[in-house]
Amino acid sequence: MLGQATGKSIYELLGGKVREKIRAYNTCAGTAYAKGSSNIDRNRSAQIGTPGDGDYEDLVAFLNEPERLVSSLKAQGFTAMKIWPFDEAAMRSGGQTIDKKDLAEGVSIMQRARQAAGNDFDIMLEMHSLWSSPAATVIARAVEDLDLFWIEDALRHESTDALIRFKNSHRIPVTTGETTGTRWDYLRLFKSGAVDHIMLDPGWVGGITEARHVISLASTFGIPVAPHDCTGPVVLTVGTHLGVSHPTVELQEMVRAYYYGWYQEMVTELPLYENGFITPPTGPGLGTKLQPGINTRSDAIVRWSRVGK
Ligand SMILES: [Mg+2]
Repeated sequence: MLGQATGKSIYELLGGKVREKIRAYNTCAGTAYAKGSSNIDRNRSAQIGTPGDGDYEDLVAFLNEPERLVSSLKAQGFTAMKIWPFDEAAMRSGGQTIDKKDLAEGVSIMQRARQAAGNDFDIMLEMHSLWSSPAATVIARAVEDLDLFWIEDALRHESTDALIRFKNSHRIPVTTGETTGTRWDYLRLFKSGAVDHIMLDPGWVGGITEARHVISLASTFGIPVAPHDCTGPVVLTVGTHLGVSHPTVELQEMVRAYYYGWYQEMVTELPLYENGFITPPTGPGLGTKLQPGINTRSDAIVRWSRVGK
């Protein structure tokens, strides 16, 4: 509201730009991913999609053709990607253990991705909090020589002790955080010493103001922040405003299958993705609006959240 009233953009109201744009990485979901259900439920076959569903079926691609995926991302200027080749194994085992065959299959995908990517391209391993601490350790040790940028949400982070054991069991940098909220829970994570990076979802963390608090708090521990996406074009836009106005934001997550897909239908303007970087809109406030009439579409589900009366 303040942005609309003053005509200033959110990044200006947050103190102004410390950089013009923020490096973006592609999360390799496909068009069908996380539509209609949690991404850890699991009608997996529907979530994975099939080749031909859309232009960017990146989940099918990383499972089957990681070399082609890397090449396609590089052609668009991306310098980093996130993939999750062990989720299917967790579906089969319940995540408490991983058998040797599943481990070898997942490791093989990671190895092929690294070989195709070379050394000038970062790879993040997403684990979706599906694993026990011992099983996560087995996986981490099996891929720890692949120079991964981070391993994400290997286990549920509510158990600080388990996170610490996991962190100390291998050499890959650890991140978590997209599903947590408020600075108080982040303080627990920071004090544990079990995280090297932190993610936050601008919606789930408690909004723009709480995101600022978390970013500031993280900076006192020397921990960089990477805003989450997958949750819609408004959250992506907020992340880009945070990214250009806070020096300790390191990366912005994006999903090109969404960015060039259904995000375009939701808002009047998206942050500009170009050659590996993303830039927030410059108009008042977030610089974007929901598309006129979107709440009267036949496929719209309208929910209201109210604070107080
Ligand atoms: Mg994640």
